[in-house]
Amino acid sequence: GLTAGIVGLPNVGKSTLFNAITQAGAESANYPFCTIDPNVGIVEVPDARLNKLTELVQPKKTVPTVFEFTDIAGIVKGASKGEGLGNKFLSHIRQVDAICQVVRCFEDENITHVAGKVDPIADIETINLELILADLESVEKRIDRVAKLAKQRDKDAAYEHDILVRLKEAFENDQPARTVEFTEEEMKVVKGMHLLTIKPMLYVANVGEDDVIDPSGNEYVQMVREFAAKDNAEVIVVCAKIEAEISELDEEEKKAFLEELGIEESGLDQLIRAAYHLLGLATYFTAGVQEVRAWTFRKGMKAPQCAGVIHTDFERGFIRAETVSYEDLVQYGSMNGAREAGRVRLEGKEYIVQDGDVMHFRFNV
Ligand code: GDP
Repeated sequence: GLTAGIVGLPNVGKSTLFNAITQAGAESANYPFCTIDPNVGIVEVPDARLNKLTELVQPKKTVPTVFEFTDIAGIVKGASKGEGLGNKFLSHIRQVDAICQVVRCFEDENITHVAGKVDPIADIETINLELILADLESVEKRIDRVAKLAKQRDKDAAYEHDILVRLKEAFENDQPARTVEFTEEEMKVVKGMHLLTIKPMLYVANVGEDDVIDPSGNEYVQMVREFAAKDNAEVIVVCAKIEAEISELDEEEKKAFLEELGIEESGLDQLIRAAYHLLGLATYFTAGVQEVRAWTFRKGMKAPQCAGVIHTDFERGFIRAETVSYEDLVQYGSMNGAREAGRVRLEGKEYIVQDGDVMHFRFNV
């Protein structure tokens, strides 16, 4: 599955946040395919549509879809030089699909800051620089070889060389690969390079308890937002300490607690949804009386592939999919209602599944 890695300097609140993630963790019996790894936290993806479908269909059970976070401990200055833990750190980042960088935006004189003071931008730059240097090295290793081929009139090599030069220039200006503009064609070549700084980045501004309701007064958060805008990255504000407390509550208690604070959605839920979208993921539903369930697919996937998310047999034997949009199903109140209104479609092998589709697959065994 796709996973988002959590990184950050020491003492910024990573462990606190990761504990909140594992505490809130999904009931593993429902997700037997999930990795059992202490560094992986599985969370349910909050989705109000699933609750609404449950009300409509009244199934025996409801199963949300899940998302994985991976805890990547131990960034150290000099990681790109391959010293000690550094190499391991970078190889772990190479394996994740998106990066959530926790940034300290809270003051607390009892908690040491590695650089001596709270300075979120300097922290971000420290980590990003290691990633950029590692990418610069990969690009430099490749560029000479490709240049030679390009001179021999190898068209593909010339094409790649041009891309490598632009990347190198960005890296030398401390810019990550995700800020460089590429066409779709070029992007295919770039993807093959397995760069670290092409991965989508999300900054998790960790604020103090006092700032959680209204973070607009927190100047560090403002700084992170401005930085992220230039960095082609997103920002989510959380208070890891409060998230850790919330994660110990059950659903009812959590709702009451958030209401009391005047918050609509917990920071962790926002983080889960943001990371999910950052990875280009979307949700379709199956809605039967036995079970109403949300399933994750990558945007752009066709109906048979989406059926394969449930079971490989569904993909192999795919015939067609009865499909209705979530909105139509809610409007007409039931599958039959939607069918009578002509809103249920029979989609074939080429259908590109849309976020919110409610699907019933027909297949041969
Ligand atoms: P890590 O080294 O990045 O994993 O950081 P930890 O999660 O261990 O947090 C370091 C210290 O900061 C711990 O004492 C946490 O209790 C504290 N901490 C984490 N998040 C917050 C927060 O939002 N507010 C405050 N005041 N302290 C926090």
